[in-house]
Amino acid sequence: MVPLEGTAAAAIAERLAKVQASMDQATLEAHRPLGSVKLLAVSKFHPVESVLAACEAGQRLFGENRVQEAATKFPLVKERWPEVRLHIIGALQTNKARQAAALADVLESLDRPALASALEKASDSLGRLPILYVQVNTGAEPQKAGIALEEADRFIDDCKKRFGNHVQGLMAIPPQGQDPAMHFRLLTELATHHDLPVRSMGMSGDYGAAIRAGSTEVRVGTAIFGPRPLQL
Ligand SMILES: *Cc1c(COP(=O)(O)O)cnc(C)c1O
Repeated sequence: MVPLEGTAAAAIAERLAKVQASMDQATLEAHRPLGSVKLLAVSKFHPVESVLAACEAGQRLFGENRVQEAATKFPLVKERWPEVRLHIIGALQTNKARQAAALADVLESLDRPALASALEKASDSLGRLPILYVQVNTGAEPQKAGIALEEADRFIDDCKKRFGNHVQGLMAIPPQGQDPAMHFRLLTELATHHDLPVRSMGMSGDYGAAIRAGSTEVRVGTAIFGPRPLQL
């Protein structure tokens, strides 16, 4: 493996610092304590060398969409940087539940009873269960992952019964082309109602708005790693 050229690594470090600075600004504007919002660096489609460059710059939390891709990158990353934590943030097929349960530190896309059952089974046999967030489809988009808003209360209760305090938060991706603030506020309210401390919301284009609406974790890809290379 060839490390990134110095200029490419420096660009990642610089963009990380910039994102962190504007997160801090939004946090202060929202009268929230500095450090109350975590930055998840979304490295999907970017090579492992870019992840390692971000680690060099001090980043420790990473998000990947696909279990398969994460499995090719993160064992190596964690060997070098044992404090790294991997979040799986993409829609998860039930037949990938076992691999996800084995690999992820946090799974953010728990969104249906069949997946909950598959994870329960996998964790029984693996003796390991990631921290879980329930993904909520706040925009009721048919093509998008996430539990429907009308079913969210029941599903969250069911997940807490199955997984106890492994269930720590909620995640949402607002519909494109709409003001995301309403969706962010809705997710914060739902998390508060269920006494869940984590609200994973906000991406490169809207993390400031998400922080002002109560996000505790933003998932930022493009603003850190640059445009994604074409999907493999
Ligand atoms: C890709 C992705 C992100 C990051 O998106 P950017 O716009 O590149 O910051 C965040 N969350 C999820 C679920 C994603 O799939």
